[in-house]
Amino acid sequence: MDLGIAGKSALVCAASKGLGRGCAMALAREGCKVTIVARTPGPLETTAEEIRSATGAEVTAVAADITTADGQAAALAVCQAPDILVNNAGGPPPGNFRDWEREDWIAAVDANMITPILLIKAVVDGMIERGFGRVVNITSTSVKAPIPILGLSNGARAGLTGFIAGLARETVRHNVTINNLLPGPFDTDRLRSTLVATAKAQNRPLEEVTEARRTANPAQRFGTAEEFGDACAYLCSAQASYITGQNMVLDGGAYPGTL
Ligand code: NAP
Repeated sequence: MDLGIAGKSALVCAASKGLGRGCAMALAREGCKVTIVARTPGPLETTAEEIRSATGAEVTAVAADITTADGQAAALAVCQAPDILVNNAGGPPPGNFRDWEREDWIAAVDANMITPILLIKAVVDGMIERGFGRVVNITSTSVKAPIPILGLSNGARAGLTGFIAGLARETVRHNVTINNLLPGPFDTDRLRSTLVATAKAQNRPLEEVTEARRTANPAQRFGTAEEFGDACAYLCSAQASYITGQNMVLDGGAYPGTL
């Protein structure tokens, strides 16, 4: 299926590894010009080169912290008028809420709520003027079913979800859609570090915790960044213009709700 987005420009945040990388690769494969952002230059350049050689797409790398004003300005200086924006940043650390101070909450809300809102603010009116825009926010299934050790994520992402629910209904008449993708367990560095923290908190071997998490999933496996990227590319497609304000769960069926 031709997704109808060849030639569009895409800004993909937090994309040197994991889910962001999967999204950048899928959009590049569809012919988008892709700008990827991450803090560490080495892995970022490697990923940019891998995407170029796999897809032949134009890929620009911006080494910046997307949660800072300077980082957002650097990304937007390179990709001034994106047609597609994939919002992503590192997830907050796991822990017990009794140990978190105001600064911890501010950092989580900054990264996982305010940063995506500011980036949308910077680009959405241009999308409206051009009559095409796709925004995908990478959030988490913790928005639907809280994960006990990820209280910072549960809270901060719920705030973004509430805001998007309103804005997405204002922009869709201009063919600008805004949706959230909610990953369950995907095989990335982030998942591995969460499993390490769980094993430590429960004083259990890592292998045992990993196997328990894997077999608890109806699919009996973790998701891959490639399949996550494919879902993102579809939400960014020309065909997806009537889908907005949705929270699409990708979790192998782990969330047990009927609806
Ligand atoms: P990952 O494999 O650890 O990759 C994170 C990527 O984000 C890296 O490229 C990292 O590069 C970049 N990054 C982190 N902080 C950044 C910042 N401040 N500015 C710019 N780039 C930044 O993580 P992932 O699994 O893809 O997770 C992506 C998001 O999905 C996270 O918010 C995570 O909490 C959420 N999530 C993941 C899962 C899962 O199972 N994987 C499940 C639910 C939710 P640098 O470190 O070099 O900046």
